[in-house]
Amino acid sequence: MEIRIQGVSKYYFSEGKTIKALDGVDLTIPANRIFTLLGPSGCGKTTLLRCIVGLEAPDTGEISIGDDVVWSKGKNISIAPEKRGLGMVFQTYAIWPHMNVFDNVAYPLQIRKLPRHVIRERVEKTLRFVRLEGFEKRPATKLSGGQQQRVALARALVAEPKVILFDEPLSNLDAKLREETRKELKTFLGKLKITAVYVTHDRVEALALSDTIAVMRAGEIVEVGSPQKIYFDADHEFVADFIGRANLIKATVRTQEAEHTVVDSGIGTIACQRRDFPIGSEVTLCLRPEFIRLARGEGAGGKNVVNGRVDSLVFVGEAYETEIRAGNELLLAKFDPDANLNEGDPVSFTLDPAHCLLVSI
Ligand code: ADP
Ligand code: MG
Repeated sequence: MEIRIQGVSKYYFSEGKTIKALDGVDLTIPANRIFTLLGPSGCGKTTLLRCIVGLEAPDTGEISIGDDVVWSKGKNISIAPEKRGLGMVFQTYAIWPHMNVFDNVAYPLQIRKLPRHVIRERVEKTLRFVRLEGFEKRPATKLSGGQQQRVALARALVAEPKVILFDEPLSNLDAKLREETRKELKTFLGKLKITAVYVTHDRVEALALSDTIAVMRAGEIVEVGSPQKIYFDADHEFVADFIGRANLIKATVRTQEAEHTVVDSGIGTIACQRRDFPIGSEVTLCLRPEFIRLARGEGAGGKNVVNGRVDSLVFVGEAYETEIRAGNELLLAKFDPDANLNEGDPVSFTLDPAHCLLVSI
């Protein structure tokens, strides 16, 4: 089911102040894909999710799920949460500690007063799906964190929703378990083929899980695209910066060539992937550390060759992370542990224009 959000704003009033949690959000969430809302804490992700679910009433706009308008300020429509055909997995208190696994998962069907044999069948099928068969009688508290999240997922799925929504479901798990559970979740969602809306502030989670990512800031959607588009080809500095480690360098557009946009910057004149900025405009040059490939000593000069010095080194296991002083910039880069570079050594690197991304400030 496709979800359409048009002109949705939401204000909170707290301690005499108005907080604009959502600011005229327009968004289409495609059917049967994993769609992620990514953004810093406080940017309105949970509020938007709660508006879709119906736990929060927007102040303006309209929300449709499939062919049904579930909320409309103008048309005065407000469908109750339980009638929207959604399943939801929350960040905390995902399952009820006083119930066993079976009862936790059966709950949404029990409140719908389905016959007992139907409930038993559906719960067992769902538990098989999340690989928890045989755990029916286990008290919820006697499960690992990852198993508890699978119970929460089963409970959200048992009523066969058209859409499933997740609010930072992995944030209470430790790093290793988070990675495992993320992979499992991706497998589960891949098999289900329903619309999944996933909220996180974790960029790696968003990149690893999503078909599409929408990056949010201060109640607005900044940019929407595939993980690759958002990481390699963002339009905005905020997005390029939020989605991964980046060197962001102030630059001015000098000329436009057939294939390149040439800029002046603190590391010299650099030919970049072409972007339609007017000559003279102020932009940001975004260089990912993984595309700065260091060579020992000074470079021969020429197009896109940058000379610098190793300013600092940090050993992080698989690589050294280093800061390179080049012109008046300090650039984050990486190199192999066996490269044997030291602080103060001269280095050079040649930038491939394809990896020099210009973004708007
Ligand atoms: P996120 O999930 O991205 O961290 P939220 O949607 O929870 O962000 O919050 C968006 C903004 O709205 C924040 O500034 C937050 O403090 C505020 N907010 C959220 N819920 C309430 C509430 N019930 N009352 C007052 N302010 C709220
Ligand atoms: Mg939140």
